[in-house]
Amino acid sequence: MERPRHAYPKPVGFGAEPQPMEKLVEPGQTIDRKRERKLRFACGMALALAAMAVLLAGEIAPLWGKVLLATALLFAAHRAMTGTPGVAVLTYHSVTDAPSWLPWSGEITVHPRSFAAQLAMLRRMNLRTIGDEDMADLRARGQVPAKDCVVIHFDDGYLDNLAFAAPMTRAAGFSATIFPSLDFIEPEDSPRQNDDSAGYLRWSELRRLRDEFCWRVESHGIDHSRIPTSERAVDVVTRENWRRHAWLQWRAMPGAKHDWFRSDAPPAVPIGSPVPESALALAACGWTDGRREDESDLRLRLHHHLATSRQRVAQEMGRPAAIFCWPENRACPAGREIAWQTGYVATTAGKGRNTANESPSVISRLHVGDRALGFRWPWADAQLLRAQIRLMQGNFYWYPIVAAMNATRKAVFAWRKWQRRSHP
Ligand SMILES: [Zn+2]
Repeated sequence: MERPRHAYPKPVGFGAEPQPMEKLVEPGQTIDRKRERKLRFACGMALALAAMAVLLAGEIAPLWGKVLLATALLFAAHRAMTGTPGVAVLTYHSVTDAPSWLPWSGEITVHPRSFAAQLAMLRRMNLRTIGDEDMADLRARGQVPAKDCVVIHFDDGYLDNLAFAAPMTRAAGFSATIFPSLDFIEPEDSPRQNDDSAGYLRWSELRRLRDEFCWRVESHGIDHSRIPTSERAVDVVTRENWRRHAWLQWRAMPGAKHDWFRSDAPPAVPIGSPVPESALALAACGWTDGRREDESDLRLRLHHHLATSRQRVAQEMGRPAAIFCWPENRACPAGREIAWQTGYVATTAGKGRNTANESPSVISRLHVGDRALGFRWPWADAQLLRAQIRLMQGNFYWYPIVAAMNATRKAVFAWRKWQRRSHP
């Protein structure tokens, strides 16, 4: 029988012995996919140009010799443009046509029309969704997941996922994984103020997603929190910006925060208060009680958030969380170690392509948005998604398309910003 390349135990139950770290940190290579695609594309182009130069050069060799050399160079160029196969893990947040309640909707909301075009593209590409645990299992055995696999994630547990995303993904034949943060899950008894899809899901609705739409419910921690990292202020809370600095309010509101956005004024930290320098609470040591935390403070916090959220998912969903999604895609080595000891199979925030050579316990994700060219055009959003998926799969011929579209989007946004400044 073939021996697995990565010793990779199944998730442990509560109270089971922690797994030694050696099993997690295997000698597989780590890919930085952004660096890799630039290097490979530059290499491929240089080799292709060299092949052309050989063919066009004067009498350096007989014709058959030039053709042979050019063919070898073109073969090498193709090798450079084709990497180890990986799996695209698509990350969505909010899918709605009414995103104004979310202060950061510009970065994370996808319009349902774009979402529909993206799902149609996944179908045209003949892709099928697999679960995170299945993907981790295959990678742990050193097997390349089939080329037609894709994973879909939804972060934060927004109510609009049930209204828009779930019916659309089911109609397209796909399943997904959702990552809610405990403090933002709406209590069952709190009345919804109106019929719109602003706000967050309840546990009963998360169970509906599981039962009716085949979604998995995993953990996004307790409070999605940031932590001050010094006493230096980077801003001051104002009537205009308090929603944008919502983490400061969340931090001062222990427990439920599902309705924070319904306040007209800052609910916890008043206007005029300093906004300190900050970092993600599960990825960095903070500044508390006038002193810098040491790693033991961070480890205590990590253990509390990872174990509590895993257990709560077990209580509500009948099985403990197996995948942990780090808020804002920021992780630290201690976090990955404690996640493993707590029983998680894999955590997010990798920078690679989910190949069989990378650590199976690290999931690298692709943030999916809309306005691929800086303005709403679902067709373009679907084209960008296809190119990004092909890059994750190791096909670097798609790199110029992604680079050109990203550059166009940046230019359009910069132009709009300039316009707003010059014509306020
Ligand atoms: Zn999040």
